[in-house]
Amino acid sequence: MSHIKENIKTAVLERLEQIRTFLRSINQCALCAEPLTLIHEIDGETSLVKETAYCSQCNLTVREKDHSLH
Ligand SMILES: [Zn+2]
Repeated sequence: MSHIKENIKTAVLERLEQIRTFLRSINQCALCAEPLTLIHEIDGETSLVKETAYCSQCNLTVREKDHSLH
């Protein structure tokens, strides 16, 4: 294989890895790649939605985020 083809292949693989990492960070556990369970709790007093992503495999809360309803 020529050097140019090798370079393109490397660039494509790096891009794919970036996309995979991004997708994992969105809805898959970064540790085991299991789909995350999203839990939304709504606080009626503060009108905030608390988003928790949970991995049942790792028994781990992966991220927590607050969304305002306003
Ligand atoms: Zn996990």
